[in-house]
Amino acid sequence: MTQTELDDLRKEYEDVVAVNDFSLTLADGEFLVLLGPSGCGKSTTLRMTAGLEDSTSGDIVVDGERVNDRAPAERDFAMVFQEVALYPHMTVRKNISSPLRAAGVDSGTIEDRVERTARMLDIEGLLDRKPGELSGGQQQRVAIGRALVREPRAFLLDEPFSKLDQKLRTGLQKELKRLQDQTGVTTMFVTHDQEEAMVLADRIAIMNEGRLQQVDTPETVYRKPANRFVADFIGNPVMNFFDVTADDGTLCLEGVPHPDAPSAVPNGAASMAARPEDADLVPAVDASADRHLTVEVDLVEMRGSTTYLICDFDGREVTFTQSSDIGAEGDRLALDFDFDAVNFFDERGDLIERTSEQNVQSTR
Ligand code: ADP
Repeated sequence: MTQTELDDLRKEYEDVVAVNDFSLTLADGEFLVLLGPSGCGKSTTLRMTAGLEDSTSGDIVVDGERVNDRAPAERDFAMVFQEVALYPHMTVRKNISSPLRAAGVDSGTIEDRVERTARMLDIEGLLDRKPGELSGGQQQRVAIGRALVREPRAFLLDEPFSKLDQKLRTGLQKELKRLQDQTGVTTMFVTHDQEEAMVLADRIAIMNEGRLQQVDTPETVYRKPANRFVADFIGNPVMNFFDVTADDGTLCLEGVPHPDAPSAVPNGAASMAARPEDADLVPAVDASADRHLTVEVDLVEMRGSTTYLICDFDGREVTFTQSSDIGAEGDRLALDFDFDAVNFFDERGDLIERTSEQNVQSTR
């Protein structure tokens, strides 16, 4: 059982507040991904957890014990970084076993654990090679093996795959996820890549400017982003935003009344956010102009199994999924929103929670 609690963590570097009011509990066996743009404080949070950086204030509590003053080795967390640091003169076998040898583990146990770890990472055939004879992806696997072989209390990874090409990355992400499932080791993983976060995480903690914005499952951060920052950061293609007002409960979208939209438009709603799949694009002639926004298709973008229509709305770019074969460049189409799926944000940019009664039938 390893529960790690970060309580009101703060880190100041001279005039920069790198991490501010950061509180989060990692459950035992959880795969938590820290996600956010470059410079938002992810690495600093991970490094404070590891003990590589002192916090300015706040507590790090592992299984009920405050560990702020404990050295990294005493915390028993294993780490993997972007830059792979293997011993070049040692074989893979020696590299992986080095933490166990340093800890004085007996040779029989070492052999067992190295074999098991190598099997899990599919590097059994490489055990007698030296790091210089391995590809970048293989080296990162060895680094992961060396971190996991000593069965640490938690596993902390800082952008471990960001130097690898996309195909290798995808392969290693899958392996890491499977390995973490098998071993059940509590894991904190830092990335700026939202797709990587979605694939790996049990929960994603999204940061901006040193502050935690939302921590929840990939599905919830995608479907119910806590604020406009999260809405914008998660998802590719990005969310589409529209200005809204509510007039006696009737939604007015970019100045166009939508009487069929949710009757109880949340008070104070200032913007509506729609994912590309949250609207059907229908021929403009089929839609009544007084209750539909219309767009012009600028570009048809095929991305494998999904085709997106990149459209112009009032001089702004919006992107929607092509739901049938409707839509060629230059076509004028109307947006038929799924009002149960879209989100509303208030003037401050915070999500307005809606009750199910407020989600009345959409126009479709
Ligand atoms: P991220 O991992 O999200 O890219 P970091 O945690 O590395 O962000 O950095 C957060 C902020 O703290 C940034 O503004 C960065 O410039 C600053 N920072 C990080 N390390 C130091 C340091 N050793 N000295 C001064 N400022 C730092």
